[in-house]
Amino acid sequence: MTANGNFQLLSESYLFAEVGRRVARFRGRHPEAEVIRMDIGDVTLPIIFPVAEAIRKATDKMSDRKSFQGYGPEQGYGFLREAIADNDYKVRGIGISPDEIFISDGAKCDIANLTDLFGADTVVGIPDPVYPVYVDSNVMAGRTVENGKIVYIKCNPDEDYRPQIPDRKVDVVYLCSPNNPTGSVLGRDELKAWVDYALANEAVIIFDSAYEAFVRDSGLPRSIYEIEGARKVAVEIRSFSKTAGFTGLRCGYTVVPRELTVSFPDGSGVELRKLWLRRQTTKFNGASYVIQRGAEAVYSPEGMEDVRRNIDYYLRNASILKEAFGKMGFATTGGVNSPYVWVRDPEGRSSWDIFDLLLETYNISTTPGVGFGSAGEGCVRLTGFNSYENTLTAIRRLEGLQK
Ligand code: PLP
Repeated sequence: MTANGNFQLLSESYLFAEVGRRVARFRGRHPEAEVIRMDIGDVTLPIIFPVAEAIRKATDKMSDRKSFQGYGPEQGYGFLREAIADNDYKVRGIGISPDEIFISDGAKCDIANLTDLFGADTVVGIPDPVYPVYVDSNVMAGRTVENGKIVYIKCNPDEDYRPQIPDRKVDVVYLCSPNNPTGSVLGRDELKAWVDYALANEAVIIFDSAYEAFVRDSGLPRSIYEIEGARKVAVEIRSFSKTAGFTGLRCGYTVVPRELTVSFPDGSGVELRKLWLRRQTTKFNGASYVIQRGAEAVYSPEGMEDVRRNIDYYLRNASILKEAFGKMGFATTGGVNSPYVWVRDPEGRSSWDIFDLLLETYNISTTPGVGFGSAGEGCVRLTGFNSYENTLTAIRRLEGLQK
C-alpha cells in the first residue's frame, strides 16, 4: 500500500513534547523546585455525583438480560437529544429539534470528520491562532496553504484576537468561541457579521462552542443559533468534556439544522444534515449507552447546579491569573467567560522565551502560543484548570511574595 501522502504535509506536532522536555530538564537541574502546571488543558475536578450515579445505574441495566442494550441509534438516543434540545436551546428561545442533533464521542472527532463532507474544491478559512485540529484534519484531506485550500483568517491582537472577516470568499469558516487558546469570545454583532458573510458567500460556518458553558455574561451569545439566519449556514459543535468533566468519559454533539443546504458538483442541492447522517451511519456506531445516560444527568437540576459550581471554580482561577499577569504589565485576553488566559509580552519576547522565563523564575509552566499558529508567537496560554490552591501559589510567586 502507498500511504496517504497528505500526512507528510502535516507540521510536526512537537509543542507538548517540547514543553514536557523543558519541564523535565528544569526539574533535573532543580529537584527541589515545585513546578506548577498552568499549561493544563484538561479538567481536574472529578465527575459530578448525578453523572456518576446515572452511569452506575446504566451499567446495572446493561448487566441485566431484561434491560441490556446493544447497538444504539447512530445519531444518539432520543432521551439525550431531547434533553439537549430542551435545555441547551429551547430554554434560550432557540428552536433546534432533536433530529437536528447528532450525539458523538466528543467534539474533536466531529470537527475532523466533518471534512468528509467537503468537496474537492472547498477552500477553508481558519483563524490563526486556534485549536490545531482544524488545520491538521484539513491537511490530512489534502488542503494546504500552498495549494490555496487553506486560508488563514487574521486575528488582531489589538482586538482581543477576534477573527477578522476575510476580504475574499471562502467556503467553510471555522469559528471557536470562547476561543482556545486566546479565551476571546465573539459578541452578538461580530457573530452576526460572520453569519451575514456566510449567507452572502454561500459559506458554511463550523462553530465550535466547546467552552460555551463558561460564558457568564448574559449579553454574549452561547449558541450561533441566537443569530438570525444562522440556521441556514452554521453547524454547531459542543462537548460535555469541559462543561461536565467528560474528557475521559467522551461525549459531545453536533447540530446540523435542516435549512442548511449545500450543492453537489452537478449543481443539485442537498441538506448537509442528510450527508452527515449518511456519514455517521456508515462510519460511526453511536456513543456508548452508559455514557449517554451520564450526559443526560448533566441536565438534571442537581447536575446543572454542580456543573455551574465546577465551572465557577475554573473561572475563578482564570480570572485571578488574568489579574496577576495584567499587574505584571502583560497584555491579556480571556480569563473571563473562558478557562483560558492568553498572555502577550509587550516587550516582544518570543513564546518560548516567555515560557522559559516563567519556568525559570517562577517555576510555572505554560503553553507557548506559537504552537497554536504563527500568529500566536509572542504569547503563552495559561488555564484555570489547576486547583485553586496551586493557582494562588502561582500568583504569590508572580507577586514576588514567595518563590
Ligand atoms: N474544541 C476545542 C476548541 C477544544 O479545545 C477541544 C479540546 O480541548 C475540543 C474541541 C475537543 O473536545 P472533546 O474532548 O469533546 O473531543
